[in-house]
Amino acid sequence: MEVLLPRTLEEALEIKAARPEAVPIAGGTDLMVELNFDRRRPALMVDVSRLPELREWRRENGTVFLGAGVTFTRIIRELPEFVPLVQASRTVGSPQIRNRGTVGGNLGTASPAGDALPVLAAYDAEIVLAAAGGRRRALPWHQFLVGPKRHAAAPDELILGARWGIVRGPGSFSKVGPRNAMVIAVASLCLVMDEGARAFRVALGSVGPTILRAPEAEAFAVRALADAGAWDDPRASLSPPALQEFGERVAAAARPIDDVRGTAAYRRHACAVLARRALAWAFEDRRSTSRSS
Ligand SMILES: Cc1cc2nc3c(=O)[nH]c(=O)nc-3n(C[C@H](O)[C@H](O)[C@H](O)COP(=O)(O)OP(=O)(O)OC[C@H]3O[C@@H](n4cnc5c(N)ncnc54)[C@H](O)[C@@H]3O)c2cc1C
Repeated sequence: MEVLLPRTLEEALEIKAARPEAVPIAGGTDLMVELNFDRRRPALMVDVSRLPELREWRRENGTVFLGAGVTFTRIIRELPEFVPLVQASRTVGSPQIRNRGTVGGNLGTASPAGDALPVLAAYDAEIVLAAAGGRRRALPWHQFLVGPKRHAAAPDELILGARWGIVRGPGSFSKVGPRNAMVIAVASLCLVMDEGARAFRVALGSVGPTILRAPEAEAFAVRALADAGAWDDPRASLSPPALQEFGERVAAAARPIDDVRGTAAYRRHACAVLARRALAWAFEDRRSTSRSS
């Protein structure tokens, strides 16, 4: 097996242009498992973990760009204001996995159970792709994630990172699994409340072939808050029946299957519970923020 160690992004992209079969390796926490189990044996790998261009994150005009090579440990340390992303990062594997594992690797694997992915979907992120000669393109997350473990990057492209608009409002990520750490999600959910646009975004992981949004539940929550006069009143909440209905609508958006980790019925139930909790937490956050300001 040949492993190439480019020092710059352009060098890496030239390698991909000349030899598109080269498999990128970042933290290796997915790829090395595949190699160890002999599921994959690429003849050529290109190490992208040293590329400075992939390791940066920055704010730019109301948006944030998160480089593909930023690890989960760095997200926890350096991006505390992005609460759902930090919560998702904290649940990834163990400290060792979080020290190596990257957002780009999560996107590259494109598993419906990738914990960063529902957050990027709820942020309505676009995925930025790069090819040699300065070619760049950005795909909305739902055009990038096209199926279970399938994404839309071309063979000569690398994932540069993800970009999304910064919103004001509470949000959370939560997941269900048989234990509290080192667990692949049986179901996961990210809820983002956008106070500025008066919108909700809810994304689900591990309950479909890829990450799913719950547009009917999102629209229901927007209407329910308007009916309750809650957009203008941070102390207001929704009634228990409205929370219940929100949970049911989120569960209806799931497209789960039975597998070794859980039944479809359990996963739907988990979505409803996670959704009700996430909405209740959002209201609590608004109340406590309004008390402290
Ligand atoms: C013990 C253990 C526990 C885990 N727990 C979790 C968990 O709780 N939640 C979770 O979501 N994941 C978990 N994972 C999976 C893994 O850690 C994550 O998916 C991580 O984000 C992968 O990142 P990486 O940098 O290690 O990717 P790598 O293994 O280096 O690469 C993964 C894939 O992405 C591609 N790739 C990487 N970077 C790029 C790039 N810049 N451009 C194009 N393609 C690229 C690679 O070619 C490969 O196909 C776990 C893994 C292990 C071994």
